[in-house]
Amino acid sequence: MLLLNVKTMYSKRLNDFVYLIDLKPRGFENFSASYVIKGKKAAIVETGPSLTVENLLAGLKEIGIKREEVDYVAVTHIHIDHAGGAGTLLPHLPNAQLLVHERGARHLVNPEKLWLSSLQVLGDIAEMYGKFQPVPEERILIAKEGMVIDLGEGVNLKVLEMLGHASHELSFYEKNSNGIFPGDAAGIYLNKFDVVIPTTPPPFHLEMALSSLQRLIQMNPSWLYYSHFGPASNAVEKLKNYAARLKLWGEIILKGMRNGEKLEVIYEKILEKDTLTPEVADFLKNHLILNNARDIHGFMEYFRKSMKLDFK
Ligand SMILES: [Zn+2]
Repeated sequence: MLLLNVKTMYSKRLNDFVYLIDLKPRGFENFSASYVIKGKKAAIVETGPSLTVENLLAGLKEIGIKREEVDYVAVTHIHIDHAGGAGTLLPHLPNAQLLVHERGARHLVNPEKLWLSSLQVLGDIAEMYGKFQPVPEERILIAKEGMVIDLGEGVNLKVLEMLGHASHELSFYEKNSNGIFPGDAAGIYLNKFDVVIPTTPPPFHLEMALSSLQRLIQMNPSWLYYSHFGPASNAVEKLKNYAARLKLWGEIILKGMRNGEKLEVIYEKILEKDTLTPEVADFLKNHLILNNARDIHGFMEYFRKSMKLDFK
């Protein structure tokens, strides 16, 4: 007998208002998420890279939202894995405006520089994610701190400026679930291990990142909807753990720099002193995209530039 089974490939309903779409870049599950927030109108948070725009559209179809019903596409920041697909996605969504930080907007309109810096920081991985297509200027809506994106039926998203991971980083607050879409401001959540690890590629600003985290903690959210990856409860505990981890890594890296140690030596010390289990350390070492060398560089560049010898 043939059973008609409506199987969802990409999407998952998280609550009455929020859906997750697993973008699965090159088949990598549980790594890159877009979210759909639905009131009378719909908003998408994160486009993901251009490589996975087709998967995002497939996920939208699974959820049963028409392309014309999407009024907003919000990106937390313009890094290629979060906003690389914006220019590719928008032609498919005739009524959508792209919500982005002021400092990021012009780079999405003219993405050449952004592409070059993606290549510089990520190398082959940027090629895998795919190039940025330019976003027409008239489709951009500049996001400002405190702005509320009304989706109707009591659903909205509030814009929060959360600098540190990037100088153009935003988070979005969803009141019905008391949830926050932190982008990369709250680190990378490895849901398989229930642990949050740093994402601190250069240019990273440690002090700003820590004060953003403090602000997120004070908001006392119930949920974090991580772009990498997925929903997480015990949000405040996760934010506090992440702040502690950033401080610890910062201390170890700064000490190593003062002692003239090489990056590999510093990395070994981090693994020694951090509470990451061997399974997590192995996972990171063998993961195609999660590369701690890049994150350690971010810290080192920050310490060099800021000439900071200490931090709180
Ligand atoms: Zn990022």
